[in-house]
Amino acid sequence: MTDASDPLLSGYRRFREHSWPEAKAEYEALAQGQTPHTLIVACSDSRADPALIFDAAPGQLFVVRNVANLVPPYQPDGQLHGVSAALEFGVKVLNVSRIVVMGHAHCGGVNAMLNGTPDSCSDFVAPWVAQAAPVVRMICESLPAEDPGRLAEETVVRLSIENLRTFPWIAERERAGKLTLSGLHFGIADGTLRALNGPGRFEPLA
Ligand SMILES: [Zn+2]
Repeated sequence: MTDASDPLLSGYRRFREHSWPEAKAEYEALAQGQTPHTLIVACSDSRADPALIFDAAPGQLFVVRNVANLVPPYQPDGQLHGVSAALEFGVKVLNVSRIVVMGHAHCGGVNAMLNGTPDSCSDFVAPWVAQAAPVVRMICESLPAEDPGRLAEETVVRLSIENLRTFPWIAERERAGKLTLSGLHFGIADGTLRALNGPGRFEPLA
């Protein structure tokens, strides 16, 4: 990473020149430990970055990103569960008071649930999105929607929240009023968030 035209290198240099002097004390304090208020499960998509959307400072958000913002069900079987490991650490060690699942418009991962994965992605993407594909397809086939893609993206957010509740230590904390679970959908083209309300509908966030 030595090419001056490399966007990562030039970005790092801007960070060091402009952001670091102001944030130095904050980072030094954060080196003692983190106390993020919220754990966010978001998509890996480069256009839906939680830290930018919530204008968050370092240390505020504990972010888990994966293809299609999926939370698999609780399955403590000794296998390699990256999402579940992050949830366990965020909830049990960092004691976050809120978990937010944020889906987004034009999600390629959700689209793959409806229309199939690219042939080149059969090793991991296909089985990863397959965990939610049957539910998403069933909902999209049974509910006529102006925008099936958006309905599918909203369905994935609902499903991820349902799966969060299969983790006993999440469900217990939610019942005890120590943890809240929320769902959001980010519209890339208009920069707005819509929130999942009690009756299960997504409405614009004021
Ligand atoms: Zn996505």
